[in-house]
Amino acid sequence: MSRGDMAKPLLGHRSMEGDPSITPAASRTIGVLGSGDFARSLAIRLVCSGFKVVVGSRNPKRKAGLFPSAAEVTFQAEAVKKTDVIFVAVFREHYSTLCDLADVLVGKILVDVSNNTKINHHKESNAEYLASLFPACTVVKGFNVVSAWTLQSGARDGNKQVLICSNNQEAKRTVAEIAQVMGFTPVDMGCMSSAREIENIPLHLLPAWKIPIFLALGLFLCFFTYNLIRQVIHPYIREQKNKLYKIPIEVVNTTLPCVAYVMLSLVYLPGVLAACSQLYYGTKYRRFPDWLDQWLQHRKQIGLLSFFCAALHAMYSLCLPMRRSHRYQLIETAVKQAVEKKMNIWVEEEVWRMEIYISVGIIALGLLSLLAITSLPSIANSLNWREFSFIQSTLGFIALVISTLHTLTYGWSRAFDENQYKFYLPPTYTLTLLVPCTVILAKVIFSLPCIQQRLLRIRRGWEKGRYVKFVLPSATAEYSSGETSSNV
Ligand code: NAP
Repeated sequence: MSRGDMAKPLLGHRSMEGDPSITPAASRTIGVLGSGDFARSLAIRLVCSGFKVVVGSRNPKRKAGLFPSAAEVTFQAEAVKKTDVIFVAVFREHYSTLCDLADVLVGKILVDVSNNTKINHHKESNAEYLASLFPACTVVKGFNVVSAWTLQSGARDGNKQVLICSNNQEAKRTVAEIAQVMGFTPVDMGCMSSAREIENIPLHLLPAWKIPIFLALGLFLCFFTYNLIRQVIHPYIREQKNKLYKIPIEVVNTTLPCVAYVMLSLVYLPGVLAACSQLYYGTKYRRFPDWLDQWLQHRKQIGLLSFFCAALHAMYSLCLPMRRSHRYQLIETAVKQAVEKKMNIWVEEEVWRMEIYISVGIIALGLLSLLAITSLPSIANSLNWREFSFIQSTLGFIALVISTLHTLTYGWSRAFDENQYKFYLPPTYTLTLLVPCTVILAKVIFSLPCIQQRLLRIRRGWEKGRYVKFVLPSATAEYSSGETSSNV
């Protein structure tokens, strides 16, 4: 290596001041057409990020007071003349009214930030339409996935991706740099044909939540019907007692924990199935079936819905003593005991059962809250891989075990009481235990050293049937590992 090479820094440092092709943020002027909500928030964020901002309005005098004093508010044509990069913060319907500016816009970069009200609303995307109106400009699609509120809340409120596409690489790079200086993460979505997809993104309603929500609703419906039969229909048919009043609170409150508990176990079940598949095929390189893949990807949403149901269960339970029905029942019991001259009503076993039941329930809810909080991107980003995996995997599994204790202390010995089998249907809690106990049992089996070691080796890349060289201490001969699998 020559002396000259040694003098160079090891890591190439791209100085914004040194590179004439890159204008430092503070000296670059950005134009904004429009003075609405988005334009205002954008201007504030641009000013805070060190840019000079010039706003183009049809009525600058009236609108100037709405913008920070550092931003210049002028007529549209005046604003456009002062900058090369212009954000078009105007609705698509009004693009044609900007055609008078065509001459002053020649050669400039137009950033289309617009959204539609319906998916695939128009034949061509808004950005392509803008490009067709101004063929002498370079159009870049971007910033539409960011709301006016996000722009105002600043970079401290979690990082946000800005999807960008254009047919011009240079223009795309310029807009990406502006996004970066503003504290966003630019994502290159390719050429202008992606604009339609980018414009559809803000219109999708919870795409990752559909399956988990249907799953939660399905479970809720099943358990609700089961509890309704046991708590309302059975007493009506057998004893002609009207227990319909139980539907709004009691039946719902016995259904919610069932859904929460089963959903929590469904967060950990796909991991168990994936481990079984890896152990069976002796490799981690075999693709999981699509349904398992989908399931693994939806674990966060399933977990959050489990937390939601558990939180509702806690609130319903706190409100149980407030009900009129509860007060009447309490007074009725007291009167009965007085008539029967019963003095000691303390049942030691019941007291202990309730104390333990409530205590483990609170701990389980606390752990679920922790899991829910750490699944938020802004919190998850602040954790390293080990911390995240400890909370989501280890503490999550502990939450499942504690929830099982909560369920068992609730049920106590009722599973062995004949009177609890209404229409021969077992108590609901015994049904809910099925999947969680399977998951816990599988996890215990996987933690046995012989299985754990094998799983660890597989996850580090070891494969069954792969030729492995090893040398016996007593001989120098080489053997193959002997394990083969036709599946791998
Ligand atoms: P807005 O509050 O209604 O503002 C639109 C602005 O367009 C007006 O203030 C007006 O400013 C200007 N304009 C220019 N020519 C016009 C004409 N012929 N008729 C009416 N107005 C005209 O809307 P916005 O919420 O800021 O949204 C602006 C764009 O940003 C839209 O394309 C929207 O899809 C997009 N966007 C908005 C958000 C958001 O959170 N609001 C998020 C993402 C994307 P002057 O009167 O000063 O000319």
